[in-house]
Amino acid sequence: MLIIGTKIFFWGSEATAEMMRCGTCGTLAHFIQKTGMRFLVFFFIIPTIPLSGKMHVLECPQCKTRYARK
Ligand SMILES: [Zn+2]
Repeated sequence: MLIIGTKIFFWGSEATAEMMRCGTCGTLAHFIQKTGMRFLVFFFIIPTIPLSGKMHVLECPQCKTRYARK
């Protein structure tokens, strides 16, 4: 039975200062900035060990597509 896996958790809900156009749905809107980290999880629910540094993504408020921020 596989009880260990990895999962990326995201948090944060700050709106971007500038309007951006979504490449997926074409919406022009203030995207939502989120911070995420990949964790090693047991039973798929309990985050234990962070496996990566923080990553920043921008999420489209319309279709929820996430874009990595450089
Ligand atoms: Zn979109």
